[in-house]
Amino acid sequence: MVNSTAAITFENIEKNFGSLRVLRGISGEIHRGEVVAIIGSSGCGKSTLLRCFNRLEAIDGGRLVVNGMDLSKPKLNYRQLRQLRSQVGMVFQQFNLFPHLSVLENLTIAQRKVLGKSAKESAQLAAFYLEKVGLFDKASAYPEQLSGGQKQRVAIARSLCMNPQVILFDEPTSALDPELVCEVLQVMQQLAADGMTMVVVTHEMQFAREVASRVMFLNQGQVEEQGSAREVLTHPKSDRLRAFLSRLN
Ligand code: ADP
Ligand code: MG
Repeated sequence: MVNSTAAITFENIEKNFGSLRVLRGISGEIHRGEVVAIIGSSGCGKSTLLRCFNRLEAIDGGRLVVNGMDLSKPKLNYRQLRQLRSQVGMVFQQFNLFPHLSVLENLTIAQRKVLGKSAKESAQLAAFYLEKVGLFDKASAYPEQLSGGQKQRVAIARSLCMNPQVILFDEPTSALDPELVCEVLQVMQQLAADGMTMVVVTHEMQFAREVASRVMFLNQGQVEEQGSAREVLTHPKSDRLRAFLSRLN
């Protein structure tokens, strides 16, 4: 029986790339409405873990259930993958907007092709979310005409247009000039306040402290420490976490 308060459940998951053991038995749970920050040094497996959550990578061992769907199986069919990808949004460091499409088209294409909505209906929802991220006036612009912060806000709006149950963020502000970080974090903070379930890989400790309900610190493919943002960031127990946090300051 799947626990309905858990958006994502993972038990002992493993992922290898050849002989490289990237995830070494990670367990945890993401509850609905929760914002979980994942932190850790470069190469510790943060992106790989996120990518397993929407099946950009298949796990090699353990058990993974995302929004009620069992992703422990080695093969999923096209219909299952499509369902998963529309329920679980992903926002990337490099935005991944379609460069040859306008902002509006970036927001409507998957609604039409994946969800089968009409042009009119998809454009209405796109306009709603563009307004929400403060970019209503950029509907007909192309990605190259936008700042990095604007591109990332478009990417978030695009994700919201699919009406996802969970959104995964992989270092969403790492590619931005420092003065553009805040506008993206504000949009994410608003989403969190609206009750969206979010898993956020980030180096923004202030964001983690203020917005995340829980923080997971990964080290070499394992959860080294986890707890409330206050516990983990203010009173770290492990030496490795203390060293990691002091390097950020
Ligand atoms: P993080 O996001 O924490 O920086 P990653 O999850 O991207 O770490 O990577 C963890 C490890 O797995 C790194 O050693 C990385 O080089 C390796 N890795 C990631 N993706 C692949 C891949 N597709 N093929 C081979 N090795 C990979
Ligand atoms: Mg990464």
